[in-house]
Amino acid sequence: MKIVLLGPPGAGKGTQAAMISGRFEIPHISTGEIFRTNVHEGTPLGKEAKSYIDQGLLVPDDLTMNMVLDRLNDPDTENGYILDGFPRTMVQAIMFDEALEQRNESIDIVLDIDVEDEVIVERMSGRRICPDCGETYHIEHLPPKIHGICNLCGSELIVREDDRPETVLKRLSVYREKTEPLVDYYAGRNILTKIDGDRDSLEVFREIESILEA
Ligand code: AMP
Repeated sequence: MKIVLLGPPGAGKGTQAAMISGRFEIPHISTGEIFRTNVHEGTPLGKEAKSYIDQGLLVPDDLTMNMVLDRLNDPDTENGYILDGFPRTMVQAIMFDEALEQRNESIDIVLDIDVEDEVIVERMSGRRICPDCGETYHIEHLPPKIHGICNLCGSELIVREDDRPETVLKRLSVYREKTEPLVDYYAGRNILTKIDGDRDSLEVFREIESILEA
């Protein structure tokens, strides 16, 4: 099963993708996470991507495409995958379709997780991440067991540079301008399902699960 998750930053794509990945045993591929790992490790890709990410801008399409296509060559993608944060522009969507077509493959379903802007700003200002293992938390809705410390690896949690309020607003406007047009693009192909993301994450997951089981 090949799944694409759409939705503004802070809609809960990462949380849902992780749960879908566990339930359906397909890898969760987050382009944001791959970029952050590269930034953390100081690779050439990370160095190039960092300034875009820190400003809340999108990394150029060619860099992103190469990175994704490279990842999709890994053997764990054989039975499908869940893409979180990709595609994010019309150029990426079209190039991705072409790449899939060459392999005689196609996207099975696109889930569009919808959340209002005010809810997003509230959610993202409380978000904390572990700089070492990437686990995410929320100071109110999903706090770690020990304040400020990652449950999984014990590292000190941080605010992602691009979760600062002014950058969040920038990311939202970039989403509305560059990524939202993909909703119509996939709806036109009858593979889009809208999900109300302004609910408890488990409730959202239950709905997604029943859609994917069907
Ligand atoms: P995310 O964790 O998905 O919110 O991504 C964090 C940042 O990584 C974004 O704000 C972009 O700067 C960059 N990024 C992630 N995915 C993409 C993509 N598909 N195209 C371009 N930039 C991306």
